[in-house]
Amino acid sequence: MKFGGALMKDAQGITRVGGLIEEFSCEPLVVVVSAIGKTTNALEILCEKSQLGEPVDKDFYKVKKLHLEIYNELFPQGNSQMSIALSDLFDDLWTALNEEYQNRYEAYDNIVSIGEELSSCIVYHYLVSKGIKTRLLSSKCLISTDSNYTDAEVNWNYTTKTINSRVIPTLENREVVITQGFIGADSLGKTTTLGREGSDFTAAIFGNIIDADEVTIWKDVPGLMNADPARFENAVKLDSLSYHEAIELAYYGASVIHPKTIQPLKVKNIPLIVRPYYDSSLEPTRITNNTDSDGAESSIIVKDNQILLSISTQNLSFIAENNLKQIFDAFSRNKAHINLMQNSAVSFSVCFNEDLIKLESIIDELKDNFKLRYNTGLQLITVRHYNDELVNKLIGESKVYLVQKSRVTVQVLLKR
Ligand code: ASP
Ligand code: MG
Repeated sequence: MKFGGALMKDAQGITRVGGLIEEFSCEPLVVVVSAIGKTTNALEILCEKSQLGEPVDKDFYKVKKLHLEIYNELFPQGNSQMSIALSDLFDDLWTALNEEYQNRYEAYDNIVSIGEELSSCIVYHYLVSKGIKTRLLSSKCLISTDSNYTDAEVNWNYTTKTINSRVIPTLENREVVITQGFIGADSLGKTTTLGREGSDFTAAIFGNIIDADEVTIWKDVPGLMNADPARFENAVKLDSLSYHEAIELAYYGASVIHPKTIQPLKVKNIPLIVRPYYDSSLEPTRITNNTDSDGAESSIIVKDNQILLSISTQNLSFIAENNLKQIFDAFSRNKAHINLMQNSAVSFSVCFNEDLIKLESIIDELKDNFKLRYNTGLQLITVRHYNDELVNKLIGESKVYLVQKSRVTVQVLLKR
């Protein structure tokens, strides 16, 4: 089971999560947690400030306060073990903020990963206090990765060995295993992360290796929706969809599941269940091999804060393979994930998530050989199983920058 930050944003949330774990703890259970509330965003800001040499104390105390408030509410009489564990983690965070790093990505993983360390510590001590036999296993000792900070690749061989030797015996011993989503460690033991929202992927890795009966992602919505209910009031829950359809939706940015989550489950035919944490009796979304319901509803995915970078050659010569290689290398080196691309004879347009530091650095790498223009503040809308009426309605009066269509999917980049 994986529990996201939105479900654990306060003490009531932790209590509810604890209740669900208890409800399902009669069977062997691995619990993966992500950071509490919006802690990861807060840690990202802290990381940026520390890298820029700006003061971090105010933001540090904000993160600390949020966690201590939850602790105080859960344990009005105190809990010395948890209190010691939390203060150790805040010492770690303070140290991480003041350390020297080889690059900003290494700093990021060291600092941002502490969000999951904190949440797992809280959930673990809460479960113990409820008398649930639980063991907290560090994902840094279980998930082995390469050293590609912020988007590390899993070393499946090694990870399989460690999970088999540490997790299986714990489950056999009838203890609930709790661990951190999103984080791992490289062969030198340095902390790495698996990409934003990567806790789902962590749950899938465990599911695959322990041959789980199913993997459940608990959500604060009824299941996997065909659109974000916060934006579209008539969004509906999808009752069932295939792994393939889920991979497509996740790839285009449906924030409900991390794109890498499906593959490890698909290969072992392990169902992925997306269900509402506020009522475990409701029918969830089931993601399996069954393709019968795919396409029954149009799905809409909206991504804000997009940049469109248009790249053309200085002398209006063609954009050909050798230019493309240079362009892709620049994106890859700067870890900028491309959401949409299109080329014409003399120019190549790339849409990616707004990150001004990455943009500046990509421009820096390409400016000697190319002419570069960019627009920011764009919105990328993807519709799976579209019809023209729906697409036109979504576009409305907006200015369209780019459109791409296949039989099943349309993507429109526009400015509102
Ligand atoms: N806490 C991390 C994030 O917010 C990982 C996750 O939530 O899955 O990106
Ligand atoms: Mg999260």
